[in-house]
Amino acid sequence: MNQIFFFYMHDGMSFLDLGLSPEVLKAIDDAGYVEPTPIQKEAIPYVLMTRDVLGCAQTGTGKTASFTLPMIDILSSGRAKARMPRSLILTPTRELATQIAENFQIYGKFNKLTMALLIGGVSMDEQTKKLDRGVDVLIATPGRLLDHFERGRILLNDIKILVIDEADRMLDMGFIPDVEKIVSLLPKIRQTLFFSATMPPEIRRLSDAFLMNPKEITVAPLSRPAAETVTQRLSIIDQREKREALRRIIRSENIETAIIFCNRKRDVDILNKSLCKHDFNAAALHGDMDQASRLETLEKFKDGSINFLVASDVAARGLDIEDLPVVFNFDVPMHSEDYIHRIGRTGRAGREGHAYTLASPPDGTLVESIEKLLGNEIPRMEIEGLGSENLDSSDDRRGRSRRGGGRGRSEKSKGPKRARSDDQPPTEKKADPKKGRARSEKRRNSDDKNDKSREDKNVVGLGDHVPAFLQKPARASR
Ligand code: AMP
Repeated sequence: MNQIFFFYMHDGMSFLDLGLSPEVLKAIDDAGYVEPTPIQKEAIPYVLMTRDVLGCAQTGTGKTASFTLPMIDILSSGRAKARMPRSLILTPTRELATQIAENFQIYGKFNKLTMALLIGGVSMDEQTKKLDRGVDVLIATPGRLLDHFERGRILLNDIKILVIDEADRMLDMGFIPDVEKIVSLLPKIRQTLFFSATMPPEIRRLSDAFLMNPKEITVAPLSRPAAETVTQRLSIIDQREKREALRRIIRSENIETAIIFCNRKRDVDILNKSLCKHDFNAAALHGDMDQASRLETLEKFKDGSINFLVASDVAARGLDIEDLPVVFNFDVPMHSEDYIHRIGRTGRAGREGHAYTLASPPDGTLVESIEKLLGNEIPRMEIEGLGSENLDSSDDRRGRSRRGGGRGRSEKSKGPKRARSDDQPPTEKKADPKKGRARSEKRRNSDDKNDKSREDKNVVGLGDHVPAFLQKPARASR
């Protein structure tokens, strides 16, 4: 059975059937999980058997627990030597690394595993001290891990389990050479768990190189559940009217809280300032902010003291906020999977959610690819008082350029034509997604640098949170 839907199938299998220890089962119970998700049901028994696993699954499917839960049990016997971690989890972003660390904290609370988080934005000295004490689980972004390795602060020859998470995102971010280098430093005999939301040929090639006779597990992309629980609307408007459109939707739909996604860091800032100027209680979240202010912003959004969070795609990947009712795509995402990730922040666990996307005519091709992924057209929504436009198809665009421009308003757009307000910068030419991908391949190294440079295209960003358990002194012995 390959196609499984999280939250939609109940076959009566419980966590008790998976072979996990009583300590881990108790932690799962405390976390309030009733039933394993499809990827957990399929992966956990194989991970416990120390088999390699190739998991094709996205965030939101419960994939993190599918490897953390059995890893805790496997690692609970044995102990780490100084500077020689016993397991390594590679993730593309600090946010994801932090989230995985939090998962270990929750599920491992009755086990005494030691852990270190090697991510940018956190003092290397602190990280080195932890490594010196010996860690069972090392969670790292590739750039920071190599920094430590090259300074001789870490030895990788005792790694028994390697997890590569979100491999396709690593590819997008240009991390694959780093990942290959890291894997070449690991023992050949090890268990490897490899996860990716998509399996393009390059990722297939890597998985073939890294895994031995893996158990392949595919869980369905989030598109269908998302389409079922999230009411989606798409408005096509002139780029210059997007801010006005956003304000109108917020007011007319009485939206009290939402995440608003932009593609670029600078647009996150501009939009945030504009919302604040119009008396919305908003804040920005992106990778140029320091760790403390990112965390503070996120906490304020979680506790309701900020109502609108203007954010980027890393936030979409890492953010886990219960009951988020509304997501806005202020920009149509460059990659159709990001649309699924973004709207997947709402309508969770069968709850009702709303996703509004603001597109402008040049977004035609991007919208087409999202709708292809969804398998249906996103219902169109006109915004009262604003003219609606048509999306350009590739043919239109060719025609337009032959005719020399054509940013004119469509026949339907008879709404009041407004003067450009001061919060509306000139429209920008959209980057070609293919070129963006090729350029991003070239970037590598320090995840700090990567977070920042990446954000000028597809903005992303949460924080370098160091969970409380990482601050605890490591055990002297087990
Ligand atoms: P992930 O795909 O790992 O990012 O997990 C998505 C969300 O599902 C996280 O908030 C987890 O805490 C939650 N989760 C993971 N496993 C389960 C489960 N068996 N039952 C309910 N929620 C879960």
